[in-house]
Amino acid sequence: MKDLQHMLNDIEKEVRLTRHLIGKDALDSRVMAAIKQVPRHEFLPDNYRFLAYDNGPAPIDCGQTISQPYIVALMTDLLHTRATDTILEIGTGSGYQAAVLSNLVKQVYSLEIIGELATQARQRLKQLGYGNVTVRHGNGHFGWPEQAPFDGIIVTAAAPFIPPALIEQLRTGARLVIPVGLPYRYQELLVIEKKADGEIKARTIFGVSFVPLTGGGATETNPITGEQP
Ligand code: SAH
Repeated sequence: MKDLQHMLNDIEKEVRLTRHLIGKDALDSRVMAAIKQVPRHEFLPDNYRFLAYDNGPAPIDCGQTISQPYIVALMTDLLHTRATDTILEIGTGSGYQAAVLSNLVKQVYSLEIIGELATQARQRLKQLGYGNVTVRHGNGHFGWPEQAPFDGIIVTAAAPFIPPALIEQLRTGARLVIPVGLPYRYQELLVIEKKADGEIKARTIFGVSFVPLTGGGATETNPITGEQP
C-alpha cells in the first residue's frame, strides 16, 4: 500500500505533466499542506482503504466516488481560498474535499443529495475533529441561500449546465469551480469568476470525468439527450 508522501509526490508529478493546461508548475503550497494534513484512508470504506494513497478516484458507498487526489488538489488551488473565507461545496460524498478545505478557510458548508452519505460524512468529520464543516442533506442545484453569499463554490459532480443559483450565491470577486457536461460523456472543468462590474468570466481547464449532479433543476429540455426537465 502506498503512503501519504507517495500520494503527494504523485500529485506534484501530475501537476508538472499538465503544466501547459493549468498554467503553473506547482500548486499553492498551502493547498499541498492542507492535503498533507488529511488522513484520506479515514474517508474510504474498509474494503477500499488499500487505495487511499493512490492518486486515483475510488468507490465509496451508494455508487459514488471519492475524487482523484490530483483533482481535489487542483480544484482547491483554483478556488483561490483565503483563511477568512466561507466556502460552499456541492457533493459532500465521503467528506474528503470538505476536510481539505476546512484546513484552509474559516467555514465550509457542504450539501449532499444522498441522505446516507450526508449522515456518514457528518459523523466522520465530527469524529476527526473538523469543527468548521457543516453538512446538510439537500439538492445542490439550488445552493444554500441562507448562508450566501459565498467566497467560493466548488461542485464535485458534473452538471449539464451551470446551476443559476450558484452564480447568484457567489460574492463579487469570488470563484465557482465546476465540472460541466453530460453524464458519463465529455465534461470540462470550468472556473467561473464573478467580476466587480457583474460580468461573469469563464475559463476551461481541461476534460474531466465526474459522477453526475442529480436531482434535476433544469428548466428546459436538454437539446442533446432530449431529456425533459
Ligand atoms: N467531494 C466528494 C466527491 C463526491 S462524488 C468527496 O470528497 O468524497 C459527488 C457527490 O455528489 C456524490 O456523493 C453525489 O451523491 C453528490 N451529488 C450528486 N448530485 C447532487 C446534488 N444535486 N446536490 C448535492 N449533492 C449531489
